[in-house]
Amino acid sequence: MKICNTKKDIRAVREEYRAQGASVGLVPTMGYLHDGHLELVRQARARCDRVIATIFVNPTQFGPNEDLSSYPSDLERDFAMLRIEGVDAVFVPAPQDMYLLGSETVVETKRLSRILIGRIRPGHFQGVTTVVTKLFNICQPDYAYFGEKDYQQLQVIKRMVRDLDVPVEIKGVPTVREADGLAMSSRNVMLTPQDRIAAVSLSRILTTAEEICGSHPVTAQNLSKLIRSSLEDEPCASVQSVDIRDAETLAPIRGRIDRSVVALLAVRFGAVLLIDQRILTPNPVHLQKA
Ligand code: AMP
Repeated sequence: MKICNTKKDIRAVREEYRAQGASVGLVPTMGYLHDGHLELVRQARARCDRVIATIFVNPTQFGPNEDLSSYPSDLERDFAMLRIEGVDAVFVPAPQDMYLLGSETVVETKRLSRILIGRIRPGHFQGVTTVVTKLFNICQPDYAYFGEKDYQQLQVIKRMVRDLDVPVEIKGVPTVREADGLAMSSRNVMLTPQDRIAAVSLSRILTTAEEICGSHPVTAQNLSKLIRSSLEDEPCASVQSVDIRDAETLAPIRGRIDRSVVALLAVRFGAVLLIDQRILTPNPVHLQKA
């Protein structure tokens, strides 16, 4: 596995793959890898001739009071994991190489970046779309892999690629979970033992919501109230947002749920913001009666 620390080096690797006529899959990450990241790598490996992973804790997607400085890191462990999965090259740039002095150009989805998590974390998605555009321009992948766990991020990136005609195909990968249902996240290690136990409530409550939606006619408003009150029963949880939205445009759903929607949760445990999501599908029998 080639380890490239500069844009120049990874561009040279990309040229080599082009000369071989090889297709390239890109897996962008912020490191401190877990099985969720590796599932993205495995899907890329299955489809593409060459896989490039990137590890970059992107400063522009963190707000001033967020966890940039405490974001966990263990590059040697990450490299070992990527090697085992058969990654061909890993790009690990320094912030000053990624953002040259005087950088002032950004990429932003105007609506999608400002709703939901964009309201809790102003500027976050602009940082994401800008760095992902740069990674696409530097690595020029044919396919790029993103987790459904960061559901809004996936929709933001798909929209950016569509709107700007970026020549890459975006692949969404289902969320990989711990045995008890907690969505794997690099931030889980920052949870206290007590919060780690309480954090299971996100996936448990989403499963209940999925069952209710599949078995009873229900309005988006009632279902989100129910989810919020179940989360609020958890003493360690500070509920930031509960939303039921159109699965693609993330527009609000009013009235009876009559198509597949996405439930999006953002919940703080101490200083750690956890997110989770679930696609909810109504029972077709109820739709016919509606
Ligand atoms: P991050 O390092 O948190 O920026 O994540 C890098 C990529 O891995 C993003 O596309 C995430 O959505 C994805 N990812 C993170 N956690 C998971 C998970 N538990 N299952 C699937 N994909 C994930």
